[in-house]
Amino acid sequence: MAGERQADCLFCKIVAGEVPATVVRETATTVAFRDINPQAPTHVLVIPRVHYPDAASLAAAEPQIAADILREAAEVAAEDKVDGSGYRIVFNTGAGAGQTVFHTHAHVLGGRGLQWPPG
Ligand code: 5GP
Ligand code: ZN
Repeated sequence: MAGERQADCLFCKIVAGEVPATVVRETATTVAFRDINPQAPTHVLVIPRVHYPDAASLAAAEPQIAADILREAAEVAAEDKVDGSGYRIVFNTGAGAGQTVFHTHAHVLGGRGLQWPPG
């Protein structure tokens, strides 16, 4: 069934508590935790508890949970006090764009100047 746990997925293991993570927020549908290799003072990943490989497939199948991720991203930014200065929400989609974990995740980046266009 779509959305079910994948045995070989790192982020499914974090959702299940089988791989440790520094969790900053949890809801019924999402988990937010600090990136192990932060690229900014605030670098948090917001993921759905269900498994979809990327943001578009999640939005197509479970649009409410896609919206939950965006709302949680804003809550993370507010809790880290980077909402005033501005923050970035990034969904790398596809290996060519830098996606390495194929379980939907929003990067929430803030706390430093962010260049545009991104690299
Ligand atoms: P992607 O490259 O797929 O957009 O993002 C994957 C992110 O997951 C990377 O920023 C990487 O640092 C992070 N990451 C990879 N493995 C782990 C882990 O075991 N724990 C945490 N907290 N983050 C991880
Ligand atoms: Zn997964």
